[in-house]
Amino acid sequence: MKSYDEIYRYTQKVLDLIEKPGINQEEVEWVKQETLTGFREYVNPGFLEYRKSVTLGALDAAVEWSDAGPNSFRDINGKEYIDCLGGFGIYNVGHRHPKVMKAVTDQLNRQALHSQDLLDPLRAMLMRILAELTPGDLKYSFLVNSGTESVEAALKLARAYNPKKPTIIAATKAFHGKSYGSLAGTAKGVFRRPFMPMLPGVRHVAFNDLDMLRKTMQACKMVGEDVGAVLLEPIQGEGGVNIPDDNYLPGVRQLCDEYGALLIFDEVQTGMGRTGKMFCSEHYDIAPDILCLAKSFGGGIMPAGATVATEKVFSVLFENPFLHTTTFGGNPLACAAAIANINVLIEEKLPERAASMGEYMLKGLREAAKGHVDKIVDVRGKGLLMAMEFVDDNIGFQVSKHMFDNGVLVSGTLVNAQVIRVEPPLTISQEEADKVFDTLALALEKVKQGK
Ligand SMILES: *Cc1c(COP(=O)(O)O)cnc(C)c1O
Repeated sequence: MKSYDEIYRYTQKVLDLIEKPGINQEEVEWVKQETLTGFREYVNPGFLEYRKSVTLGALDAAVEWSDAGPNSFRDINGKEYIDCLGGFGIYNVGHRHPKVMKAVTDQLNRQALHSQDLLDPLRAMLMRILAELTPGDLKYSFLVNSGTESVEAALKLARAYNPKKPTIIAATKAFHGKSYGSLAGTAKGVFRRPFMPMLPGVRHVAFNDLDMLRKTMQACKMVGEDVGAVLLEPIQGEGGVNIPDDNYLPGVRQLCDEYGALLIFDEVQTGMGRTGKMFCSEHYDIAPDILCLAKSFGGGIMPAGATVATEKVFSVLFENPFLHTTTFGGNPLACAAAIANINVLIEEKLPERAASMGEYMLKGLREAAKGHVDKIVDVRGKGLLMAMEFVDDNIGFQVSKHMFDNGVLVSGTLVNAQVIRVEPPLTISQEEADKVFDTLALALEKVKQGK
C-alpha cells in the first residue's frame, strides 16, 4: 500500500495527461514506460506475449494514443494506422463520429446516469426505434452494456419462455462471449475447458449443417430433452467469417418453428449494417425470435447492447420486470449514443455503403492475393465483414505483422492468425482501401522472400 498522498499525486498526473491536447517527448517516454510496467505488473503479463505489435520487438509502436480520423488511429509516437480491425466491429460509423460525440456530450451536460427509479425517456425512445428498425415481430428490448450480457439475457428469456424444453443448441466455431451463460454457447474448447462444467443443457452442432441440426432436434425430443432455443451467429465472426449456404438459416428458422424452439440470432458483430444490410438476417428474409446486439450498437463511443424479442417471448418478464435487471444497461449516455448511431447509419446509408465497399474490398484483396496460393488460401466476406485465410498460423502472423509495420491494423495475433479478419469502419474511403490492398500485396511479397 502507498499513502493517499502518493496515490493522489499519481491520479493527478494522469488527469493532467488526459487533459493535454498534445504531449512532449518526455511525457511520451513516461507513458510508454508506465504502460509496459502496468501491463506486466498489474494488467496481465500474458498480454505482452500475445500482442503481436509487442512481440515484434517494436514496443514503441505498441502503445495507442489517439484517433487520427474516422478510419484511422495514431500510436504514441504519432504513427498512423488504417483501422482494418475496427475493434472487432465496434466502429461501424467510424471513430468518434461527430454526431454521436455531440449526442453523448449534450446528454452528459444534462444528466449522466439515470435515477434507477423514475422513468427514463431515452430508454423508451431508443426501444421504440429498435422495434421499428428490427425485422419481423421483434418489439420489446432489454438494454445491456456488452455482447455477452445481451446473450445472457437471450438465454434467460428462452429458458423462461420454454421451461419444458431445456436444451439449447449452438454451433461449433461459435462465439457468444465469455460470461458463464454465453460461454456455454461459445464453442472454442480452450476458452471453455478450464471452467467446466458449463451451463447444463447446451449442445453444439456443426454450423451450416441443417441435417445435423434436424437429427439433433429429433433425438432431443425423443429422449424428453426438447430443444427450447437455437443460438446462432448468422455469419460467424470470431470463428473465421463463416458464411452459411443460402438455404441454411431459412432452414433453421423452419426447424425451430416445427419443434417450437426459439431462434436466437447473435448479431453482436453482424448487426448495425456490417454485412451490407442493417441486420444480417435481412439477407435471408427471415427474423429471429430474439436478437442480440452490442459492439457497434453504441456508435463506437459508448459500450451498449440490446436484446430484442417478440412480444410473445418478452412477455415472460411482464409480470415481474425485476426478474432480469442491470444497473448500467441502457443508461442515458448509452441510449444517446445508440440513437445517434442509428441516425448516422440511416443518414449516411452505411449499410448500403458496406455492401458496395465490401464488394470493392473483396475484389481488391483477392487481386492483391493473386499469385500467392502457397500462402493465402481464401479471401471471403459479406459486406465489410471479411477474412483472409492463410495456409497456417505462422504465415498469417507474418503477413499481419508486415501490414501493421506498414500502417494497417488487421486482426492477426500470435495465437490465432490463420484466419485474419478485416472489418474496417463502414466509412472507410476508397483511397484507404487501396492502401490496404497495396500493403497486403507488399506484405505477401515480403513473406515470400522469407523476411
Ligand atoms: C464480440 C461478440 C460477443 C461478445 O461481446 P462482448 O461485448 O465482448 O461481451 C458476442 N457475440 C458475438 C457474435 C461477438 O462477436
